[in-house]
Amino acid sequence: MSIVAFNWVLKSYKKHPMASFLTTPEISENLLKIILDAKKNVVLVSPYLKISMPVFKAMKKSADRGIKIRLIYKVGKMDANARQILSNVSQLETYALINLHSKCYLNERAMIITSMNLYEKMQTASKEMGILLDRETDAIAFKKALEECKSIWQASKIMPLERNNSKSNFDNKMQLAVFNSNLLKEKTGYCIRCNTSINYEPEKPFCYDCYSIWSEFRNPYYEENFCHSCGSISNTDKSKPECYACFESLKQNRKINN
Ligand SMILES: [Zn+2]
Ligand SMILES: [Zn+2]
Repeated sequence: MSIVAFNWVLKSYKKHPMASFLTTPEISENLLKIILDAKKNVVLVSPYLKISMPVFKAMKKSADRGIKIRLIYKVGKMDANARQILSNVSQLETYALINLHSKCYLNERAMIITSMNLYEKMQTASKEMGILLDRETDAIAFKKALEECKSIWQASKIMPLERNNSKSNFDNKMQLAVFNSNLLKEKTGYCIRCNTSINYEPEKPFCYDCYSIWSEFRNPYYEENFCHSCGSISNTDKSKPECYACFESLKQNRKINN
């Protein structure tokens, strides 16, 4: 490239500042900015969730001043802990999509497209990359990404968080959860729709999210994707949640035990 052409490129960059590249700490920093500087709306698209304290505090602070926050995650990837934490963010709307893999965080003026999930460990340990877009200077890319986020949001399913106003209700539920987990400690199972690890209970072969989707139609023969017992890809359904091999081996075990 000649010097003249190079200068021209530099000049054109000045005239139209382009998207900036973000390293791991810069992604975290800009994520908080996006949440805290929002005028009206925040959209957080992240398949995996483990909410860190700074992200939670930023979400809560913005929600308390009336910012509408929408969080879209991958079906089955919000654990009870994240659910509990997020129920403290007022009016947070949560949505789940089964095949979500994109990560994108935006308000009405700025957007990060990144490899980083809203995942506590990843924000510190993993090597991530990101791109920061500005609505005005990166108008075309911003608009296109916004449309993609909109289509993700429209394809996803709303998953309301339980908000516990009464503490005693919460305590009872916690006790019940501890009791259940003690009872079922021996074996892990898998959600037959999304393969998330859950308790092994052939009567309840879905994770929380997939169960709420399944329960709309309650079709016990609706074809699912995974074996509840071994998690391998298998044509299962609510009525027969295990693959042939698991079903047969469990049958053998039952015979021996009897
Ligand atoms: Zn599931
Ligand atoms: Zn199996």
